[in-house]
Formats: sequence, structure tokens, C-alpha cells
Amino acid sequence: MQMPISLVATESLPSWQDILSQCVEDPAELLNQLQLSPVLLPAAQAACKLFPLRVPQPFLSRIEPGNLQDPLLQQILPLGAELETVSGFSQDPLGEKAANPVPGLIHKYKGRVLLVLTGACAINCRYCFRRHFPYQDNRLGPEQWEQILKYIRADNTIHEVIFSGGDPLATPDSRFFRLLDALETIPHLKRLRIHSRLPIMIPQRITDAFCQRLADSRFDVVMVIHANHANELDTEVAAALQLLRHHQITLLNQAVLLKGVNDSLDALVKLSERVFEFGVLPYYLFTLDRVAGAAHFEVPERDAQQLLGQLQATLPGYLVPRLAKEIAGAPSKTLLHSIREP
Ligand SMILES: *Cc1c(COP(=O)(O)O)cnc(C)c1O
Ligand code: SF4
Repeated sequence: MQMPISLVATESLPSWQDILSQCVEDPAELLNQLQLSPVLLPAAQAACKLFPLRVPQPFLSRIEPGNLQDPLLQQILPLGAELETVSGFSQDPLGEKAANPVPGLIHKYKGRVLLVLTGACAINCRYCFRRHFPYQDNRLGPEQWEQILKYIRADNTIHEVIFSGGDPLATPDSRFFRLLDALETIPHLKRLRIHSRLPIMIPQRITDAFCQRLADSRFDVVMVIHANHANELDTEVAAALQLLRHHQITLLNQAVLLKGVNDSLDALVKLSERVFEFGVLPYYLFTLDRVAGAAHFEVPERDAQQLLGQLQATLPGYLVPRLAKEIAGAPSKTLLHSIREP
């Protein structure tokens, strides 16, 4: 006997695309869902005009209702402070426009190129250094894609392609796989790296079919996830990461040091321990890129270096991320050393 349609529908789980298309984008809805005061609304609406609100339901569900200090809420709540002009904070702090030889491709460092696969993200992180990046000029149509392949083919010092964005996993599998197929025909490429917040934001994105394609690739595949706080990693995220690990994908975490989110020894220790429990090694802890609208997130560099000293004195070496910052024009990320208090 056939099952009634309605029964099937209620039993099947929403796809990652459904979840992605149902992100909360209205600040009033956000405040309402999280039982926060409507007093916050006018500033939130003003900040959204500069950079829209966007947060997926799985991430929202990890935020404690009514707690304005929640470290996950801090990352997504639009604030009036974003409208302030602060000297030293600019539109393109990393000089990415200058390192953009072909639209959609950023070649800053030797041996690896970064591709902006899409401007879309599952979440809009208020501190994001790409909040002013001209994504419209970096949409990858078939023509741009041909140019990118030509650029990579012509330079046999390139061994690694980094899928970035936006969030490269906001791209549907069909397109993602087509791009991968094309790259696999270039003999000097060895590694594929994927920088994505989606395994955290919408863990349903990590499907069997997706993992299987990566496992079948001739490339060594590295995925760099982006968790800033231990509370971001729940059991659904654990399942997604376990699936990736099961398919021999190397997992690393990068975080940004953010005031009010993770700028304490306790928060950083918990983050490193939690990602490791989930099969992920800490990679980078970045100081904030000085992008206009994000000044209120900045942790002074000296404080960051002291925190690193405390981390080193607390955790085994493999759980201590590299504290780094990005300096426009430098040949790599710039590592910051630790400072020990007397
Ligand atoms: C950060 C970054 C990379 C990767 O740097 P790694 O030190 O290899 O992690 C590559 N290209 C660009 C443009 C970057 O910003
Ligand atoms: S690019 Fe990364 S950090 Fe920036 S908004 Fe998207 S997910 Fe957040």
C-alpha cells in the first residue's frame, strides 16, 4: 500500500537548500524569536542597510533566548556601532581588489589561489572582512570560469586551489562538482581546500553524496571550518564532521578573535577542546581585519598576544592555534608571538 503523501512529507527532514532559503533576514523576527527587547530594532534596521541580517535556523537554535551577551548572538546581531566611522578601519583592508588578476580569483600567496565561488553565505557575520567586497564583479559565469582555468593552467607553480566566497558550500552540488571536474584535469594541482562555515551553520549540507565525490577526487581535500565559540558545535555538527572525517577529509578550524565572543582564556580553551573532540585541529586564530563597521569587535594586539601566552601555558601544543593577522601585500599571513605576563 502506498503511503499518503502528507505522511511522507512530515517525516522527511528539510533539505539544506530549504534551510538556506529560510534564513532569518528580518531584524524584528530575530528579536522576537530570541525574546530580545524591541528597543534594539531601530539600530538593527539601520545597520542592516549597510550589511543585511542573515542567520540560519540551526545556528539560531543554539543561541540562548533573552541573553544579549550570548557569544553566538554577538556574531550576528546588527548594532548601531556598525555605523560609526573609526579611523584605520576601511572598505578593503586586505587589498583584495589589487590581488584580483582575473574576476573571482585571488592570487596573493605562492603556490595557492583562492576562488570566490559565490557571494552568498548561510550567515552574515557582522565582523566579516568581506562585508564591502564587490561580489557583483566576481560572479563566476562560464566565461569567467574559462579565464580562471586558463590562469591556473598557465602557472604550474600553483598546487592548491582554495574554494572560498562567500561560502563555497552555498553552491549546489551540481555546480560544485562541475568545477571540481574541470580542476582535476590540471596536472600540477594537488590539493583542494574548502573554507566554509556551512558545516557549522547548516550541518545538513554535508551529505553522503557530497562526501563521496570528495573521497573520489584525486586531490587531497582539506576543509577549514570556521567556529569562533564552543557553543557553535552541537551534536548535529558532530555528525556532519564525523561524516567528512570518515571520507578522509582533513579538518581544520579557523576562528577570529572577537571582543565579547571569545576574548578570554576560558572561551579559547573550550573552543580548542571542543573542535578536537569533533575531529578538527585548531589552525588559525585571526586578529580582526580592520573593516569599516567592525571596530567594536577589535581586541588590542597586546591582549591577543597575552591570551596566546596563557593558551600555550594551558593546552598541548597541537591545540594552540596560530595567532595571525593579515597584512595587505605580505607574502603570507603574519604570525604574532605570545607575550608572557611577568
Ligand atoms: C588566507 C589566504 C590563503 C591561505 O593562506 P594559508 O596560510 O595557506 O592558510 C590563500 N589565499 C588568500 C588570498 C588568502 O587570503
Ligand atoms: S564569508 Fe565567512 S565570515 Fe564572512 S559572512 Fe560569510 S560565513 Fe561569515
